[in-house]
Order: sequence, then C-alpha cells, then structure tokens
Amino acid sequence: MQTDVIIIGAGASGLMCAMEAGKRGRSVLVVDHCENVARKVLVSGGGRCNFSNRIMGPEHFICDNPDFVTSALARFTPADFLSLLESHGIEYEEREEGRLFCIGSSRDIVEMLRDECERAGVRFRLGCRVSGIVKTDGFRVETAEGIFDSKSLVIATGGLSYPQLGAGNFGYQVAKQFGLKVTKLRPALTPMKFSPQDARVFGCLAGVSINATVRAGAAHFTENLLFTHTGVSGPAILQISSYWDGKSCLSVDLLPRVDICSVLIEKRGSRSLLSTLLDRYLPKRFVKLWCDLHGAPKPINQYSRQEISAIARDLHDWRLRPGGTEGFNKAEVTLGGVDTRDISSKTMESKKTPGLYFVGEVLDVTGRLGGYNLHWAWASGHAAGESAGPGAQVQAFSQ
Ligand SMILES: Cc1cc2nc3c(=O)[nH]c(=O)nc-3n(C[C@H](O)[C@H](O)[C@H](O)COP(=O)(O)OP(=O)(O)OC[C@H]3O[C@@H](n4cnc5c(N)ncnc54)[C@H](O)[C@@H]3O)c2cc1C
Repeated sequence: MQTDVIIIGAGASGLMCAMEAGKRGRSVLVVDHCENVARKVLVSGGGRCNFSNRIMGPEHFICDNPDFVTSALARFTPADFLSLLESHGIEYEEREEGRLFCIGSSRDIVEMLRDECERAGVRFRLGCRVSGIVKTDGFRVETAEGIFDSKSLVIATGGLSYPQLGAGNFGYQVAKQFGLKVTKLRPALTPMKFSPQDARVFGCLAGVSINATVRAGAAHFTENLLFTHTGVSGPAILQISSYWDGKSCLSVDLLPRVDICSVLIEKRGSRSLLSTLLDRYLPKRFVKLWCDLHGAPKPINQYSRQEISAIARDLHDWRLRPGGTEGFNKAEVTLGGVDTRDISSKTMESKKTPGLYFVGEVLDVTGRLGGYNLHWAWASGHAAGESAGPGAQVQAFSQ
C-alpha cells in the first residue's frame, strides 16, 4: 500500500500530526501496536487531561538545545488548541499557574482528535506490530499486517515511561538506524524513593501533604509534597525529579511562607509547647514525628536562641537524600531523547534523512509539570503535519 505519510504512534503527537497532514490533502496512515489510541492522554491529569498551559515559553522545557522548541511553540500556541476545543464544544478550565484542564474528561480530547482525523480521511492500523523500516525512495514499513510504503515517515512513539500503556524504545532505535544521536534517557516527573534508613523513619507519614519549596541545584519549585509509603511524591517532587542529579541531597523548605525563626523569637516568652506552635503551620502527624526526632518538645520559653536558629534551619532546609526515583513505571515522562541538533526546529524533519520526522516525547524535549508535555506533543505534531508528505521537504533545510 502506498501512502503520502505514515505515522508510527497514535498518541498525542501522532494524532495531531495526522489530522494536520490529512487536512492538507495528504493521504495518511497511522500505525500503532496498541488497540486503542492515545492511552496516555486518557490517563493524563488524573482523567481530566492537563492539556496545555496559558503561560508557555522555552523556559518551561528541558532540552540540550534550548532554543529548539521556540519555532513550533510560536506556530501552535495554547490559544490555537483552545480554539480547537471550542470548535468541538469541549469545556475547559484554568487552574493555578495557567494550567488548562478539561471540565469533563480526557476522553473528550481523544474523541476530538479521532473526529478530526476521520474528517481528514486518516486511516488507522491499530494493534499492528512494526517489525522494521527500510529506506527506499521514501520509506518501507514492514508490519505484521503487511508492507506499507510512504513518501514521509513520522516517528511519534513517545518515551519510555509507563510501558503498561504501550511505551517502548522503538523510536530511539529508528533514530539510531538513521544515524541520529539519542541523549541519555532517564525517568522524569517521577516520585522519589526514600533511602532504606529514611523509609523506616518517614514511612509512617504516608498520606501527609505539605506545601514546600524543594530545591536541587539551581532549580526550585513551591508546590505540594506528599509523603508515600516508599518515599515522596506530589507536584513539588515530580517537578524537581527532572532536575535531580541522582545522588545529591534535596533541600526542602517545609515552611516557605513563614519565617519560623522570627515567629519563635517573637514567642520566646510563651509557655506553649513547640509542637503546639508548629501544629499551626504543619500537619500534626508530621510535627509529632519531627519533634520526636529532635528530642521531646519543650515549652518555647525554654529554648535558647541557638536552639531556635537550629530548629528554623532544619525546617527551612531539611536535607533529604533520595534513594532513587520510582523509575519509568511511575514517571510521567522521559528526560532526554532524539538529539534535536539534527532535527529541523521548523518541521521536525531529520536533517540527515529527508522525509523522516520525529515528534513529541521521543525527542529530547521534556516539559515541566503543568500541561507542557502535551502541548509539546501538539505543537511538534502540528509542525510536522504542516510539512510531511510529497513536495514539502525543501523548507526543512532552510534551517
Ligand atoms: C500517568 C501520566 C499522566 C500524564 N499527565 C499529563 C498531563 O496531565 N499533562 C501533560 O502535559 N502531560 C502529561 N503526561 C505526559 C504526556 O502524556 C506525554 O508526554 C504525551 O502523551 C507524549 O505524546 P507522544 O505522542 O509523544 O507519545 P504518546 O502519547 O506516549 O504516544 C505514543 C504512541 O506510540 C505507540 N507506540 C510506541 N511504540 C510503538 C511501536 N513500537 N509500534 C507502534 N506504536 C508504538 C504507543 O502505543 C502510543 O500510542 C502524562 C503521562 C503519564 C504517563
């Protein structure tokens, strides 16, 4: 079967690319080894899909080649995605820090993408295993259901996270087959594990959540930190996991909005127990454990200035050395990917192999938590969709 564009991967970026290429009159075939499309979109945002963010710029992405994202983001903005939602009557809401969510369910977005693809005449082969790719005049895709030929080939197979939803290393293998580099891959936006020693001490705090500032190197995030049975999670930890070097301590400010040293000095005459005062600012279960670890709590008027400074330091700069991350099984995304230095930032086409495109998470582009990864999938898929197919490769090399 001969087609203008074959897209491998029916996830967020693959579907966006398919509908755009189809709208331009290109014949498009999407192949996926799973039976269902966009499974990660369905589970995203706790089922409400944090599909984009009003505040969008290169600073929200980690990439070895930081300017790479600029062009695609400028040509497909959050407003563009919102117009698409509005044209399908899908309701959405803006939450903290510009995060955009569906009011109904992620399923609305998946149905919208399928509907757009159908209107654009896109064909699908789902549950279809790809065994190899051969370079011909265009590309030959060998699958369990036969051979498909195309002028352009788009790799939209995502990253390594959540293998249970169909993730695998296929896209990286194709990149290597065509002479592209793949940067170091590691789990990002992932919960972290305690060291065995900390697990014994802090495991009892499972379910406790604290608004904290978490730092790793120069990066810091102020959001919720959640204790789990095995470690720490919550938005602050997921965010910082993308910046953690795998060995250093995290610095956790458990009271980012309170100068606890000043509060304690102000209350120096008080006969209340330290724990009673801390209960006002932190969850009781945490305070109890923290006080147990730091010696039985005394009335505040019995603490010296030095002791107060030490208490403040411990609460504002708790040093936590994680035992590791929870890995790809629980990471929302993969850090690293196909090296973007060999990819056109305008079209997502390989500079080495005309007609071969990489979109979405398979590229070395990792968004922060907050709708950035899906927006990257839309923007990069859109960029490739505007270019893939016969007669469009020229502009890729204007870069
Ligand atoms: C639990 C969870 C929650 C998330 N929540 C959010 C969120 O709220 N907001 C946000 O911005 N991001 C979120 N993300 C990240 C976001 O879902 C991904 O970054 C995004 O889906 C990547 O799009 P993609 O098209 O590159 O890859 P994917 O959407 O992963 O699609 C890849 C497709 O390729 C297919 N495929 C893989 N290998 C092969 C192969 N060998 N042959 C054929 N097909 C193949 C897969 O089956 C899949 O359909 C979340 C991720 C997870 C795991």
